[in-house]
Amino acid sequence: MAFKIVASQCTQCGACEFECPSDAIEFKGEKYVIDPNKCTECEGVFELQQCASVCPVPKTCVPA
Ligand code: SF4
Ligand code: SF4
Repeated sequence: MAFKIVASQCTQCGACEFECPSDAIEFKGEKYVIDPNKCTECEGVFELQQCASVCPVPKTCVPA
């Protein structure tokens, strides 16, 4: 499983990119995307998904 970013809601603040322990988030093709092959849902590292925790927009970092 992985998380995804709802591009239509993302304000491109960039906060999530630096919080991801798996380095799974990058700015690509003019939007922030989560690489599903890298996203671990923060399992074993953080109790809450860091991207969803820091994102200022509700329901923008969600389960894919
Ligand atoms: S759930 Fe965790 S590992 Fe996955 S993109 Fe968000 S911060 Fe990165
Ligand atoms: S923290 Fe939320 S609004 Fe900011 S870039 Fe990431 S997904 Fe977009």
